[in-house]
Amino acid sequence: MRFEQAKTFMAAALILNCMSFILSINLLFAQPDENQQEIQYAKLREAMVRDQIEARGVEDRAVLAALKKVKRHLFVPEPQRQMAYSDQPLPIGEGQTISQPYIVAFMTEALSLKKTDKVLEIGTGSGYQAAVLAELCDTVYSIEIIDPLGKRAETVLKIQGYTNVHVKTGDGYKGWLEHAPYDAVIVTCSPSHVPRPLQDQLAEGGRMIIPVGEYPDQELILLKKKGGELTRQAILPVLFVPMMDEEGKKY
Ligand code: SAH
Repeated sequence: MRFEQAKTFMAAALILNCMSFILSINLLFAQPDENQQEIQYAKLREAMVRDQIEARGVEDRAVLAALKKVKRHLFVPEPQRQMAYSDQPLPIGEGQTISQPYIVAFMTEALSLKKTDKVLEIGTGSGYQAAVLAELCDTVYSIEIIDPLGKRAETVLKIQGYTNVHVKTGDGYKGWLEHAPYDAVIVTCSPSHVPRPLQDQLAEGGRMIIPVGEYPDQELILLKKKGGELTRQAILPVLFVPMMDEEGKKY
């Protein structure tokens, strides 16, 4: 009986040994695979910045470095990952899109951010633009009207280690008064006019970049506040999803 027990133990130990050997072999091969994938994505990011962004005239070194750093593929849904670094907007669910990389870079550069700036973003979407901003300023406050999108973005940003981005669900037309005034405001959905609360929540010397107009006649507008007055400059024709209120009505 004792001998039988010992045999069973030995057999069990052998099986366990074999299992842990197979596991370690698996880990050995899984690790480089994932690393390979990350290296591949980093190369695609380099190419994206060089061919889509620098080639079109964005030259702010800090903005280019942020675009090279932020892992765009982690902000898009799994089926879109392979396309994450292509020259186009991509679906992120709920009928919404992550903006084309060039547009993200262009709008970010237009804000002339400083490391000490506090930024308000309207339209969190995937959280990608918020991550790019977070690389360049002190704090980002971002508002998303579709709760599941805002929640998902918040999780992805947290996993990526961004502690200086705060996301809330709500109607961004009204801004986020609690943390105002903002050195910069970026709007990534398009209202028919510049929301008054956003103008009021912009700090003296602040910049706002916002697509304004009815689809498909929208223009990117850059506003600057000096001496309490806003100057307004139309800089690029664009296409963004409309800004909606909580009933789903377009602003
Ligand atoms: N900046 C995003 C792109 C967002 S697309 C990114 O990097 O992925 C525009 C987003 O604006 C959508 O998610 C849409 O739901 C949101 N949106 C539309 N109207 C809004 C409103 N009134 N307040 C806040 N977000 C709004």
